[in-house]
Amino acid sequence: MQKYGGTSVADPDRIKAVAEHVAFTKRHGNDVVVVVSAMGKTTDNLMSLANQVSSTHPGREMDMLLTTGERISMALLCMALADIGVDAVSMTGSQVGIITDTVHTKAKIVEVKGDRLREALGHGRVVVVAGFQGVSTDKEITTLGRGGSDTTAVALAAALSADVCEIYTDVTGVFSADPRIVPQARKLQHLSFEEMLEMAGVGSKVLALRSVEFARNHNVPLHVRSSFTWEHGTWVRNVEGESNMEDPIISGVVQDASESKVTIFAVPDRPGVSAAIFEPLANANVNVDMIVQNTSREGHTDISFTVPKADMKVAEEIVTRVSKEIGAGGVTHDTDIAKISLVGAGMKTSPGIAAKMFRVLAENEVNIQMISTSTIRVSVVVALGKMELAVRSLHTAFGLDSGSAYSAPLPERK
Ligand code: ADP
Ligand code: ASP
Ligand code: MG
Repeated sequence: MQKYGGTSVADPDRIKAVAEHVAFTKRHGNDVVVVVSAMGKTTDNLMSLANQVSSTHPGREMDMLLTTGERISMALLCMALADIGVDAVSMTGSQVGIITDTVHTKAKIVEVKGDRLREALGHGRVVVVAGFQGVSTDKEITTLGRGGSDTTAVALAAALSADVCEIYTDVTGVFSADPRIVPQARKLQHLSFEEMLEMAGVGSKVLALRSVEFARNHNVPLHVRSSFTWEHGTWVRNVEGESNMEDPIISGVVQDASESKVTIFAVPDRPGVSAAIFEPLANANVNVDMIVQNTSREGHTDISFTVPKADMKVAEEIVTRVSKEIGAGGVTHDTDIAKISLVGAGMKTSPGIAAKMFRVLAENEVNIQMISTSTIRVSVVVALGKMELAVRSLHTAFGLDSGSAYSAPLPERK
């Protein structure tokens, strides 16, 4: 299984380079299934087109629109493969039998059939699958949420019991921080599913969260690597018998600028109020992340939480309505925030990580707005303008700098 992200298929030359690598893999005696993302900025451009004609974005039509991006890539890659003598066939998510629930624009995979895929492989063909999409139990076309091609690849790898799921992207692996922000970041040779889950869960976009969940649940080894240098990258898998003593205390610093903060003021402090706020958000499939509630004073409290910027419109409508119903003082929101997280399995046995993190941020005059922790993670919300400073200073303070700057090409992002 090989998955190529948007930058890896951004133009005709890149598509030809990918075709060469697929051909090389096939000629070494492997059955190859390829999952492709939309070319370069295509998905963003399609979303911007939608914004220009509508402010409502009906989910079904958004999915019809967005799935076209991946169809372009799959067809072009098959043509490039035919040109170099590789028998390849393209298939949409629906054609390979990726069955999802009915939640448009962020559907979850409920079943992978894969019959047509197996049949084509049986005929010696390479199959190129359009990532990020499926067909719902209501027979409608759906998409799996941004970055969802990773999930397509891992789900198919699990269904086919593939030896490995290679995620080809524009960096040479998973690093101790985003190399675009911290050039001194170090490449991690190996990560456990647990650590990668935390990193993806707090918003490191190198792998989509759902894809890592799938990989862990079905024990699919992931190899994150570069389609620009083709060098060996980072393995994400569970290695039997590995000692916990060797777990690094901190494996990475992760930033996420994709969320906004909502605050509801002067919320009456009585049982049922939180449920009244968060139930309708959950019913509308808004993914609420961090939640902070202050101690109440004189019967009122403030509640703040973060939601993806993409869900902000829906969230704001709901929260404005509910805050009136429950008699709260008002609602504000702040889009200029970033979440910074420290992740490491060794934190379980090392006290004081959070305190050190707060001290480092204080010394750099970065104010902390929210805090949350798990056994192997500490996250804070800070002002967006302080994001890069916070990531770099934490990376240095926790001894993660590699001593040399990232050297592979860093293509401009979609
Ligand atoms: P693709 O289009 O190939 O799916 P993505 O943009 O989804 O690529 O993911 C790759 C990007 O993830 C890199 O270009 C890098 O900027 C970013 N990134 C964030 N955190 C990390 C990290 N810890 N290690 C590597 N890359 C990271
Ligand atoms: N093209 C989709 C996106 O940009 C899916 C993906 O690239 O994984 O989010
Ligand atoms: Mg991606």
